[in-house]
Amino acid sequence: MKVIVDYENCDSHGVCASVCPEVFELRDDDFMYVINENPDESLRPKIELAVKSCPKQALKLEG
Ligand code: SF4
Repeated sequence: MKVIVDYENCDSHGVCASVCPEVFELRDDDFMYVINENPDESLRPKIELAVKSCPKQALKLEG
């Protein structure tokens, strides 16, 4: 599976990083980074929750 971020919509407030810090990281520069674009299958539930929790619908999970 692959995590895709629509950075045009992302507000970088980091809800996703709170839900799944294994994949999403909010850095000191106030931008959100995907630190693992092809995460292990075991992280799927947390990533799906992050996708659902994103207030800007800026996240997509493929595969
Ligand atoms: S939750 Fe959505 S809008 Fe917020 S930082 Fe993550 S991807 Fe961006």
